[in-house]
Amino acid sequence: MQICKFIMQYMRVTQGYGRDILGAADYTSYSHAGSYALDLGGRDAGADWAYAPCDVMAKKVEGKCNTVWFETLDKVMCADGKARNLVFMLKHIDNEDLAGLGIRPGRIFRQGEKFYREGSAGTVGNHIHIEVGLGPFALPCRQKTSLKSADGKQVLKIKNQLMPHDVFFVCDDVLLLDTGGYSWKSEDTKPEEQSVNLQNKLLKQQVENLSEALAEIGEIVESMQV
Ligand SMILES: [Zn+2]
Repeated sequence: MQICKFIMQYMRVTQGYGRDILGAADYTSYSHAGSYALDLGGRDAGADWAYAPCDVMAKKVEGKCNTVWFETLDKVMCADGKARNLVFMLKHIDNEDLAGLGIRPGRIFRQGEKFYREGSAGTVGNHIHIEVGLGPFALPCRQKTSLKSADGKQVLKIKNQLMPHDVFFVCDDVLLLDTGGYSWKSEDTKPEEQSVNLQNKLLKQQVENLSEALAEIGEIVESMQV
């Protein structure tokens, strides 16, 4: 059985869930109010690729946000240790990438294959909006939340939503830039070690970033002294 892998090489959560993990609504989360949606910004302001988390089939493509629903071909192992059929809903890929990847209902993407990309279709600034739901895919494929966003808009969410950090394994090849504060799990570690390892990795990354910044400052100071 395949494991469900996080979809990008960089994790940078730019907008988090609109509910806390116990289900209470977070009205401050604007367009995500009442849902477990995540916005992923990739490495920077550019448009990074997303890779199929497991074998999936595109089921539906829609509208100005270029929203695409993908369904798993088989049950996959989720980060919380449960095997499930899943549906993924992604938004904002640009038209040319949607066409370039040949995304249309029935198109199959194998695990690790490029299957989506950050874009700004229907939004401002390159990112991927992603939601995960329990499969199988069925119409209607989304539902209204009981909430409105901070600016008074009705929020729609994927049907039977799941929390992404319960679903995606974050493997060693993912660079953690901003985890959104969720306790992501890595593969092949004991459950009690998982979040610790991830924390260590994050700290290590921060130390590396800091050392680089210090080196740069050192160079600047040196050049000023000349
Ligand atoms: Zn979003």
